[in-house]
Amino acid sequence: MPSEADYIGRFAPSPSGPLHFGSLVAALASFLDARSHHGQWLLRMEDLDPAREPPEAAGQILRSLDAFGLHWDGEVLYQSTRLEAYREALHQLQAQGLIYACDCSRQDVQGMGGVYDGRCRHRSDPVTGGALRVQVTDETLHFDDLIQGLQAQQLGKECGDFVVLRKDGLFAYQIAVVVDDAWQHITHVVRGSDLLDSTARQIYLQQRLGYATPRYAHIPVAVNAEGQKLSKQHFARAIDDAHPAPQLWQVLQFLGQAPDPALANASTDDILHWAIQHWDIQAVPKLANIRHDCDDAASPD
Ligand SMILES: [Zn+2]
Repeated sequence: MPSEADYIGRFAPSPSGPLHFGSLVAALASFLDARSHHGQWLLRMEDLDPAREPPEAAGQILRSLDAFGLHWDGEVLYQSTRLEAYREALHQLQAQGLIYACDCSRQDVQGMGGVYDGRCRHRSDPVTGGALRVQVTDETLHFDDLIQGLQAQQLGKECGDFVVLRKDGLFAYQIAVVVDDAWQHITHVVRGSDLLDSTARQIYLQQRLGYATPRYAHIPVAVNAEGQKLSKQHFARAIDDAHPAPQLWQVLQFLGQAPDPALANASTDDILHWAIQHWDIQAVPKLANIRHDCDDAASPD
């Protein structure tokens, strides 16, 4: 365990649009966990897929974070500047004989029950225009999520060999995030529970690449503090930079922090000050059901 002074956290949005309620939840939770540990809070823009990223979105996100008083440490890291590092990591995996080409489609993988069966591992014919997959093993990977508790995943059975370089030539999320978490010395990853299922794959890559594994905490992104399902519309609603205080208050309530109702009319600085003092990660609601979905196969969602 790193000491508190060594805490480095991060918020890592994809600039596919403006921040919405769900991403504000992840931003605030990671911010509060870092600040309550007197840690650093870094900002990483996961801009690896230009076709899905309106050019104005990254700037909008930075302005929103500023408006909400969520000030990050140091320079913003843009993944689009990091391709050389991802290529280097891919070479490391290739040198271990773990990488092979695969031109199976998403439909093919669905036909395998959603878990890629490794059928291209030992092909002798050349595969052109395919994705690159990393070979996994049957070992069970464990981690202790700070919110969701003990997790275990057997990648071979539950996920299968997964894509690290997409067939469109873009690096997959899993390898980029692992390389950057290591490079930025991230000790704590607090993020949305939509990524809970990615964690075992990331730990697998960390082990193969000789990186340390950070602590993980997954915030529910589909239920509120009462365990009720939030509608997609509610969650995807864009945030309003002009009125940050009431929205910060709502997010705190969503995170189970029981903010004083009087705080809803306070300044952002006062709300954040209160929230850092009172941050209790154990009060964040747990997920009722944890679903596995490894089908991030050869193409983006
Ligand atoms: Zn294949």
